[in-house]
Amino acid sequence: ATPVALLVGTGRGARLGILITGPDALEAAKGIDTIVLDKTGTITTGHLSVSSVVTVGPAERDEVLRYAASLEAASEHPIARAIAVAVPAEQRSDVVDFRSSDGLGVQGSIDGVAVAVGRATFLSSLGVELGSEIETALADAGRAGRTAVVVAADGRAAGVVELADTVRADTAEAIASFRRMGLEPVMLTGDAEAVARRVADELGVRRVVADVVPEGKVEEIRRLQASGRTVAMVGDGVNDAAALAAADLGIAMGGGTDAAMHAADITLVREGLTGAADAVALSRRTLGIIR
Ligand code: ADP
Ligand code: MG
Repeated sequence: ATPVALLVGTGRGARLGILITGPDALEAAKGIDTIVLDKTGTITTGHLSVSSVVTVGPAERDEVLRYAASLEAASEHPIARAIAVAVPAEQRSDVVDFRSSDGLGVQGSIDGVAVAVGRATFLSSLGVELGSEIETALADAGRAGRTAVVVAADGRAAGVVELADTVRADTAEAIASFRRMGLEPVMLTGDAEAVARRVADELGVRRVVADVVPEGKVEEIRRLQASGRTVAMVGDGVNDAAALAAADLGIAMGGGTDAAMHAADITLVREGLTGAADAVALSRRTLGIIR
């Protein structure tokens, strides 16, 4: 590989809003045939908003939301930011013993009440019984394509917060470009199967790996590589970092977390997913110059 060609490629990338960490990154794009896409914040904007709150038992909507918002104010996750801003800062309570389990949920103590917010399996692992009303609310949200998290107070399920997210304006165009370049798109997400399917169907993405725990993202990359594929991965979250590092080419969304950007070979500084397609195309062109 001539260093000059690689430098030229790096310079072109910068003008396209594609930040290449090291010239080596371009070589990694050789032979990529699969592009793994995180859902929240990559395929979608990740700017979620609370669309509804379902409560069970004696719990009141405002109280469930206040508990959840107070707890989530300490987390950086896109779900957390959406829930936190649903309650004005001065109405949120102080949290002690805050703990975050990346890609699963958060917990802490508010006015002496143990509160947890997260995916259903996370709350179950804390000993919370979900019950049929919660299960129904989760299934309804899934059918509507909406991400949903469970709120528990004092070890009991208190409600479900539903969140709406939107597919990025240029995602369909980016996926069409990946296909033209011969890359098979795969959706990889920690969100529920039903929600993931809904979004994937809308985009014509057939391969979906959902309900994945954070370590599961790396495992999926390795599994694809073991089956003979050369894999690019695009992600934005803390829980995408290990998978971005494991992929043959890791691409971080610009608005994402520092962890993702540090782990990636390429960071997209312009908004949208088409930058990922441009990055792969640029790498191929640059390598073509070298050959
Ligand atoms: P994705 O792969 O779509 O980016 P994550 O792996 O970050 O999603 O999260 C997967 C799931 O874990 C979320 O859909 C949610 O149920 C739960 N979760 C993660 N972080 C939080 C949080 N701070 N608050 C509530 N739920 C969370
Ligand atoms: Mg994400």
